[in-house]
Amino acid sequence: MHVLLATSELNPYSKTGGLADMVSALARALAGPATGAGLKVSVVTPLYRGVAEAHPGIEPTSWRLAIPLGDGLVEGRFHCCKPSANLTLWFVEQPGFFDRAGLYNESNRDYADNAARFIFLSRAALILARHLPDPPTVLHCHDWQTGLIPILARHARLQAGWTQPPRTVFTIHNLAFQGSFPASTWGLTGLPSDWLHLESALHFERVNFLKAGLTQAQAITTVSPTYAQEILTPEYGCGLEGLLLKRYNDLSGILNGVDYEEWNSASDPALPAAFSAGDPAGKAVCKATLQRELGLPDRSDVPLFANISRLTDQKGSSLLVETVRALLDAGESLQFALLGSGEKALENAFRDLAKRFPDQVAARIGFDPALSHRIEAGADFYLMPSRFEPCGLNQLYSLRYGAIPIVRATGGLKDSVVDPRDNAAQATGIQFAPYSATALQKAMMKALALWQEPAWLRHIRHNGMTADFSWEKQSAEYIALYDSVCRE
Ligand code: ADP
Repeated sequence: MHVLLATSELNPYSKTGGLADMVSALARALAGPATGAGLKVSVVTPLYRGVAEAHPGIEPTSWRLAIPLGDGLVEGRFHCCKPSANLTLWFVEQPGFFDRAGLYNESNRDYADNAARFIFLSRAALILARHLPDPPTVLHCHDWQTGLIPILARHARLQAGWTQPPRTVFTIHNLAFQGSFPASTWGLTGLPSDWLHLESALHFERVNFLKAGLTQAQAITTVSPTYAQEILTPEYGCGLEGLLLKRYNDLSGILNGVDYEEWNSASDPALPAAFSAGDPAGKAVCKATLQRELGLPDRSDVPLFANISRLTDQKGSSLLVETVRALLDAGESLQFALLGSGEKALENAFRDLAKRFPDQVAARIGFDPALSHRIEAGADFYLMPSRFEPCGLNQLYSLRYGAIPIVRATGGLKDSVVDPRDNAAQATGIQFAPYSATALQKAMMKALALWQEPAWLRHIRHNGMTADFSWEKQSAEYIALYDSVCRE
């Protein structure tokens, strides 16, 4: 079987969030010998600014593109690299669209031509799928940026003589981002105007790329079993719950895995000391070094809490500010380290908190993958009070790096962290349910109590560090799904 993954982000070439990590790790797991699947895997993604320069393995090809977009013809070219025998990465060069400072936006403002940019990517993916000498049997699309691929493939089959387009799978990484554009955008797709209707991409009089993927793909997945259930409800369905209910039989939730080559505390080049579940001593060195790096007092006796994320309502960032402030005002002994960027008001709130409590709070505003590894390694507890969380990756990294996760019981957080109340022997972290500062505060107080019980703390930490969320395990579910859509 040959699977083509289409994505707008791919770690380590481009990343704003978990999508980049997931596609890159899934592709490698599917192509790797560890699964024994013998899958051939290709990935198609934009060639963003600086990518070719930073990764000399990526070579330009002679395969040029001329794709009609509305009344114009937009030219481009494929670049390619082959990291392993079964894995080929295709990068779509189109400097006007992709040679920019950001992936989707700059200064928190979306690019005005995002629809055109990702229609171009989607059409390039289909050209690749159609003309590769060994064409893919499955085309696996990720998030709204590639949501039009299934309908474009159907059109090519019915009207453009493509007798055997691949089967399509669409994965929702975050239902809140839908790619919603004015109805006039449809003209850019090259699809007939009567193909835009409520059963395809029309949603509240607009073209909705995500909806197009959900209505047209053969199978739909999302990134955790709990989120797959949550999105069927008005609270989490973002207006698409009715459609998802209709497609219930084609919808499944598959938890993301971790790339344990990148997240291996025993060999992580970003860390000052190595450690593992069997030999945890180096974690204390990581903590002390991190405290110094962040300008916090080097105190092994004070628990260090951390959070790394986009600063937005989804991630519960304002709950974090409120709760950490309340606990510090009450004189609790703790430290808190934040790495993140996003909404300006939240960035400022964390900066203010750090100014007010310089010995307890460090706030690094920015995007820094190496520092994110050092924070996971140095922290004692990791806070994830998300309003919703399709899967979440940082709690998985935290488990392996011995930072006990404290999570709101939603989506993938609920599926990956075991609370002592549910199973004391296998507990890996702390869960709380209401989305409120009071509930988060209670959960943090439990963590402070746990800090006073070293034997319990070691037990829970050890369980987390030995839990297996490897992609070798998780990718088997995707392989079973690909097999089933091919048999349909
Ligand atoms: P989402 O995709 O919703 O942002 P995930 O938890 O699925 O959330 O994935 C976020 C990914 O982005 C993780 O790998 C996380 O470490 C990384 N990340 C988020 N913010 C930052 C940051 N400021 N610096 C470095 N890495 C970050």
